[in-house]
Formats: sequence, structure tokens, C-alpha cells
Amino acid sequence: MHARTLLLAVAATLSTAPFAAMAGTESMARFCQTQYSRDCQAAVTPPQIIERFKQGNERFASGHGTHRNYSQQVKETAKGQFPLASIVSCIDSRAPAELVLDQGIGDVFNARVAGNVINEDILGSLEFASKVAGAKLIVVMGHTSCGAVKGACDNVQMGNLTGLLAKIQPAVAAVPSKTGADRSSKNHEFVEMVAEANVRQNVQLVRDRSPILKEMEDKGEIKIVGAMYDVASGKVSWYE
Ligand SMILES: [Zn+2]
Repeated sequence: MHARTLLLAVAATLSTAPFAAMAGTESMARFCQTQYSRDCQAAVTPPQIIERFKQGNERFASGHGTHRNYSQQVKETAKGQFPLASIVSCIDSRAPAELVLDQGIGDVFNARVAGNVINEDILGSLEFASKVAGAKLIVVMGHTSCGAVKGACDNVQMGNLTGLLAKIQPAVAAVPSKTGADRSSKNHEFVEMVAEANVRQNVQLVRDRSPILKEMEDKGEIKIVGAMYDVASGKVSWYE
């Protein structure tokens, strides 16, 4: 589908936004309970969205996640989507982005790929999400004990995984260590340092390889940040 067609498709949803199903607006942060209209998306800034995610993760990690009526959210978002952010995260079964940030249906675009690597298809998805569909924040979210990062540290070669892990090798190379130190997956501290380097490099990769998103960030229309999810504590740390 061409960008213009996509734009038209998005625009078409504007006139049919379910105003009758209006979920109300939280007065403090000006967030709608459901991202059901362009107005909800337009009312908030990238820093406010980061704050919303931080608060959401605090709720999740403390066992006080929001009880959502998903059936109601399905109805409210059926005619269009106006997500706040895109999250590139790992396929790891312990790191589901919406859950750990306590977000609902229609809140975020979610690209999951082993090792939260960036390639042309991910960049294309992010460009659609921000330039066409209006998402204002991009988060590259890694996680602790990542099997893909461990595989890159150990230089695993297997089928199509070889090419994927090659995308993490620049992060492995970027982490210094003392002469003779263990640089394999057995060194947990090293693995977590590579995971962080991988996130930071991929945030920069988005800027370097997508002139569209770089320009949007330079203009202040979007923000691109990194984050790390701890599979043991349930907490997300942010690299802003
Ligand atoms: Zn992983």
C-alpha cells in the first residue's frame, strides 16, 4: 500500500471516530482511557508518554496493574487506531511490552524480534507508526537474560539466526573488558552490558538509518529512547 493510500485510510477513520463511546479524559495527564481518537493522541507530548509508561510499569511491578475491560476497548478502537508510541522489544515470552508497561488495546504499536534488533522492515514499521499513524514516542526495549544477546556473545551459528545475531555483534564489540576476562554468556555481567549497548546502539541506528524519523525527532514531534526490562524484578529502567 502506498503512503498516500495509508494516509487516506488513516484520515478516513477521523470522521468516524467513536465519539459516542468516549471514555473520558484523565484531568491530570490529559490521557484518554482508550486511545480512540486523534484528539487523544494530539493532547499529549513524548515526555508525558514516557511518564505514563513509567507509572504503568510501577503498577505492573508492584502487582497493581489496571483492570481493563478489553471487550469495551475493542469496541472503542474498532474504527481506527491512534497509538501513543511504538515499542521495539524482544520476542522473549517473559517480556510482553504492553503488559509490563500496563497499557491497553490501541495504546502502542509493538514490534517484537529476537534481540530487539533494527532492520529495514522494523524501520518501515516505525516510519508508518510515527509519520502516518501519529505515534509520538519510539522505545527500543531490551531485557535482562536475553537469549539472543547470549547467543551473540557466544557467536552462535544456526540457520537464519546467524544473520540476526550478527546485528548484535557491534554491541558485543563495543563492550570493553579486561584482558583474559570471560566474554561468553557465562559472564552475566558482560551479557547485561552487551544488552544495554545493544539498546543504545539501536536507538542511534533508528536515527542514522531513518531520515524521516530523525527529522521528526529534530523537530520535537517524536522522541526516541531506550529502555531495559528486568525479567527478575518486573521493572523497566529508562535510557533517556
Ligand atoms: Zn531476548
